[in-house]
Amino acid sequence: MTKLRRLPLVAICGRPNVGKSTLFNRITGRQSAIVHKEEGITRDRFIVSAAWEGRRFRLVDTGGIVENPLDPITHKMQEQARAALEEATVILFVLDGQQEITRVDEEVCSELFRYGKPVVLAVNKLDNAKLEQNRTEFYSLGLGEPYAISASHNMGIDELMAAVLEHLPALPEGEAIEEPEGEGEASAEEEIITKVAVIGKPNVGKSSFINAILNEERTIVTDIPGTTRDALDIEFTWQDKEYLFIDTAGLRRKAGITREVERYSVARSLRSIRRADVCLIMMDATDGLSEQDKRICEYVRQQGTAMILVWTKWDLIEDKEAKFKSIASEMELKAPFLKYVPYVTISNLTRQRLFSIFEYIDRVAGMARFRVGTGELNRFVESLKQDLPTAMHKGKRAKILYVTQAGVRPTTFVLFVNQKRLFHFSYLRYIENQLREKYGFDGVPLTLEVREEKTERPARGPRTKRTESEEEEA
Ligand code: GDP
Ligand code: GDP
Repeated sequence: MTKLRRLPLVAICGRPNVGKSTLFNRITGRQSAIVHKEEGITRDRFIVSAAWEGRRFRLVDTGGIVENPLDPITHKMQEQARAALEEATVILFVLDGQQEITRVDEEVCSELFRYGKPVVLAVNKLDNAKLEQNRTEFYSLGLGEPYAISASHNMGIDELMAAVLEHLPALPEGEAIEEPEGEGEASAEEEIITKVAVIGKPNVGKSSFINAILNEERTIVTDIPGTTRDALDIEFTWQDKEYLFIDTAGLRRKAGITREVERYSVARSLRSIRRADVCLIMMDATDGLSEQDKRICEYVRQQGTAMILVWTKWDLIEDKEAKFKSIASEMELKAPFLKYVPYVTISNLTRQRLFSIFEYIDRVAGMARFRVGTGELNRFVESLKQDLPTAMHKGKRAKILYVTQAGVRPTTFVLFVNQKRLFHFSYLRYIENQLREKYGFDGVPLTLEVREEKTERPARGPRTKRTESEEEEA
């Protein structure tokens, strides 16, 4: 298990549907965050390392804390949520400002008191000045100043985060931060930059591409020596965003200085693929999709790394419209698994669309970091259920009990089901397609894991306080 740096932990909590996931994505989306899977207490939960105004922290969405505690899986999730709150430096408590304070909100609130941690109150969905007046109602919770925000409209987030940062310890550089065990590679700087690997077979234009973008005046380039002499990482700023082109050693030298054909270093590409947030897979438009191209794509997919297909030498194509169509049909025929991967045609010579690649990188890197909130995810899968193929075995029907997104890089969904063997490939493919249709995930390979959940729902046992109050509400 990789031990994370002990950065302070910010825990988002609140009842379902108040906008926790939206806020989570808002906070992490602003600076690119890399998501770590932590084993143990936070299994199946997300902890990302994020930064705001240059201050770094870890962020977790405790999701399930107030869902039906009678459901054994939710119960398990609650334990995890509590463990996260236990560990938290600051708790970010989210409420729905378009609704009255509910009993469930009050219960979360009194539970939060018990932790004795600083709590920052985010009153969400206050999308305009009129709604913002609702804010004052939330003083009654006794948790101090309520911050009016709109997670979906990106309002009030700066003020909210300023309040959160106030509670984070000002760590002296390097102190109280443990390096992850045995991973010298991921330096602190790297974690807020999008890492891009340029790969592809020889002669497709990889070095020409790197050199073409580096010669662009608008860019700032610094060379960062990699772990070996051979691997060179290049930091690159484009429109105020930072990118790290990784393992570019041979690529940069070659087209610039000598014309000798350097041997394609397989080992280096494999390492790059694993390190990268996004792979640019370069292919020669004058050649079309070769077996080797296909193998490279397949490998990237297996590694779970997000990808973009880049067709180079577009200047040499005469009938561009016809070629574009034939590329599309060739991919559909020869590599149907690339259906969800965006592609772009460029010329390193004329620089056509060279920089539009960054828009693709941003989009795909965003999708690779994207997480679907557990509540939202389960509502979505619930809505699919009537259309799902009914798989049966010995009178047993395939049943999905619960779904959670367990991580990113690779983006992994875990389906807790009644019987694993009932979940065939076609069944999972259907779910994957629906997830893609709903959330996008352009260029991002998805992993669907099926786990059998042994625990049956307990019979109506002794009632908890929470259930009673929920029933009162109903
Ligand atoms: P969670 O269950 O707490 O993670 O909530 P989600 O983030 O999934 O959001 C629940 C619903 O509230 C979604 O339909 C969001 O689009 C919506 N929502 C989130 N933030 C806002 C907001 O600031 N204003 C409005 N009007 N709706 C929001
Ligand atoms: P690499 O082996 O993938 O790094 O490929 P190179 O960048 O060395 O390019 C191989 C050859 O293709 C060189 O002769 C380049 O000048 C040429 N080339 C690369 N990109 C383009 C392009 O967009 N248009 C044209 N016409 N030639 C290109």
